[in-house]
Amino acid sequence: MSYDSSKNIHCIFQPFIKEEDDFIEKTSFAIIKCENCSSTFHNFQNIEGTSHQYNWVCEFCQSKNSIGTEAKLQDLNLPNSYTAELVSRSKTNSTHIREKRSIFVIDCLTNEIELETLKLVLNNPEALPEGKYALITIEPKGNVVINLSSGKTVPFSIEQSKIEKAVKNLDDEFFLKHITVGAAWFDSKITFTRKIKTLKPFAKKETARAKKRPKRATGLALFLASVLSPHKNCNTHIMSFLSGPCTIGPGKVASTDIKKPIRSHDQLDSGRDKYFIKTTTFYEEFNAYCLDNICFDFFISSLDQTGLLEWKSLLTSSMSITQFDSFNDEKFTESWRNYIKLRNEFALELASLKILSTSGIVFKNNLIADIKFQPTKTKNERINEMKWKFNKPLVLNPKNFVIPCEFEVHSGTLQTIQFQLHYYKDDQSYIKIVTIPFKLIQPWKNGFHIEIEIPFLLKKFAQQILLKTIYDTSTMSEYLAAEIDMYEKNLPTLSDRDLKLFYQLQRSTILLKRNTSPDEHILLAHYLYNSSTSNCLFTCNPLMIKFPNDKSIKGKTDLIPLDARFATDSHSLFVDGGVFIMVRYTEETDDTVKAKDMAMTIIKSVERYPKPRFIYTMVGKSQDRFFKSKLIPLTEEESVELGTQDLPFEKFTQHVHK
Ligand SMILES: [Zn+2]
Repeated sequence: MSYDSSKNIHCIFQPFIKEEDDFIEKTSFAIIKCENCSSTFHNFQNIEGTSHQYNWVCEFCQSKNSIGTEAKLQDLNLPNSYTAELVSRSKTNSTHIREKRSIFVIDCLTNEIELETLKLVLNNPEALPEGKYALITIEPKGNVVINLSSGKTVPFSIEQSKIEKAVKNLDDEFFLKHITVGAAWFDSKITFTRKIKTLKPFAKKETARAKKRPKRATGLALFLASVLSPHKNCNTHIMSFLSGPCTIGPGKVASTDIKKPIRSHDQLDSGRDKYFIKTTTFYEEFNAYCLDNICFDFFISSLDQTGLLEWKSLLTSSMSITQFDSFNDEKFTESWRNYIKLRNEFALELASLKILSTSGIVFKNNLIADIKFQPTKTKNERINEMKWKFNKPLVLNPKNFVIPCEFEVHSGTLQTIQFQLHYYKDDQSYIKIVTIPFKLIQPWKNGFHIEIEIPFLLKKFAQQILLKTIYDTSTMSEYLAAEIDMYEKNLPTLSDRDLKLFYQLQRSTILLKRNTSPDEHILLAHYLYNSSTSNCLFTCNPLMIKFPNDKSIKGKTDLIPLDARFATDSHSLFVDGGVFIMVRYTEETDDTVKAKDMAMTIIKSVERYPKPRFIYTMVGKSQDRFFKSKLIPLTEEESVELGTQDLPFEKFTQHVHK
C-alpha cells in the first residue's frame, strides 16, 4: 500500500503471492458473515458481551452480530491479529463443473527440423494438458485444415472469397454448415498424439534467397478455433504454435513479398503501414465476439515479428505468450513443461471479487476494470461495497495475479479494507478473504512507497498499451513527467533513492520505442500487466546480489538503485531484471557457480513463468550491455561511458526540481 501525491491510496492486492500460500488447502477457520452486509468477521477486538452472550460489531456497517456463548467463541479459532486470511471450501456453487479443452493451432509452414522438434515435445502424453483436444493446422496457399478425430480433414482456403467474407464478418454459422463440431474433438491422448505424429512440414529451410513469405492464414485459423470452442461448461485454451506472420486474409500483417519488411515503429508512427488499422480492428471485433471462457496462448518460434501488436486485444485473456528463436530452443521446451504444469496443477478460474471499505475510505478504481471486470453492483447506499464478476476468468499462474486498486481517503484515521475473492479450482469453489486494517500514516508523505508506486504506474501504462488502438508512447512519457512533478511538489521528502528509481521508470523500455520492435513492446506490456509487483519493479531497476554474499539469500534483499559504478564491479553478480536473469563475472570462481545456481533455480521455477531470458556473461563482453543499459549514469561523462542515449541523472533532477 502506498500514498500517492494527491490523497489517494494505491494498493496492489496479490492474493496468491505468499510462499506458504497454498490456495487450495482447507482451513479450519470458520467464515462468519455479517447479518447486515457481506463482510466477514476477522477481529477479536470487535467482540463485546458477557460469557453468556457475545456479539461482534461489524466495522463496515456497525451492526451487531451474535456469536453465541464462550464455547462458540473458542470454536472460531481465529488468530488474534489484525489480518486474517481465510480460505475455505464454500458450499455454494458446488455444481460448477468446467470441462477442460485445448485447441492446438499448429503452423506447418515451417521447416522439417522445427516441426519435428515440436512434434517430439507434443508427442509425450504427459506433456499434454488434461481434457479434450482439437487440432487445426495452418497449411500452404492460405489453407487451414481442421483435423477430425476420425482421421478425416476439413480444409478451408482463405483464397475463396466467401470464406474470407465469413471470417471478416465473424460468421460462425457459415462454418458450422461444413463441420460437425463434435467430430473435431479427440477424447484420448493416444489418438491425439498419433495424429500429431503425422503432421508434415511445408517449408524448406529458409534461405536468404527466398523471395516470398508463405501464404499464412493465421486469422482464419484462430477464427476456426473459436468456432470449435464449446459454448457452455468448458474452459478452452487456444494454443497457437506459430512460425511467422499472417500474410493473407483477415489478420494480415505483412506482405508475401519478403523484400517488404513487417512494420516498424517509424511506419506505425507516421501511419504508413497499410495493414495496421484494418487488422487491429478485426482482432478487436473478434475478441469481443469470443466467449469469456476462451483463452489465447501463443508459442512463437521466430526471430522476426509476427504481429503481436495487431492481435493484442486477444492477449488480454492470455497469460502465456512466449517467443523464442526456434522450437529447438531450450526456452521452448522448458516453457512448455512449465506451462503444462501450471495448467494441470496451478491454474484457477476466477468468479467474483468484492471490496468492502470502512466509511472514511472510498474505492476509486482498479486498473484492470476495462479488461477483466464487470461491476455487478454499484455502491451500496449505506456501506462501501463493490462487487465485480470477472469477464476473462482464467488465471494460469496465480502467483502473478494482482489487482491494483486506488482508494480515495475521506476522513478518519483507523480504516479497514476487506477483499473477498471467489474462485474455482478443480471444480471446487473457494473464497479468499483478506482484511487489512490500517492506521492512516501522518504526515501523509510518510506513507509513500516507491516499491508500490512504480509497479502501479507500470501496470497503468501496460494497460493503456494493451487497450488502446492508438499507437503512441509519447503521451505516456508526458503523463509520467507530470506525475513525477506532482510527487516532487507534494512529497518534498522524495529521497535520492526514490528519485533514482523514478529516473529508472522514466527510461523504462515500456515508455521508449528505441531498441525494441513493436512486437517486443507489446510482449513487455503483457509481461508487466501479468507480473507480481517485484518482477515489475525489477524490469526498471534490477535486483542485484553480490557474491560472496553477506546477506542471507533467502532474506529480503533491498533494492538498490544501480549506479554507474557497478559497471566495473569485479564480483560475481546475480542480477534479476524481471524479463531476464543474469550472472556476470570477471573470472569464473566458486562464487560464480553459486550465482549461477541461484539463477537456474529461479529460471526453472514454475512461478517465474513466462520464463526469463538467461544471460551468462563476462564483464565487458557483448551481453554485458543488458546490465549496463540498466545502470544509472549520474553525469554526462557516465552517460558517454555507458554508451546510453538517456539524459544523465543530474539533468533529470534539475528538470524535476524546476
Ligand atoms: Zn456489516
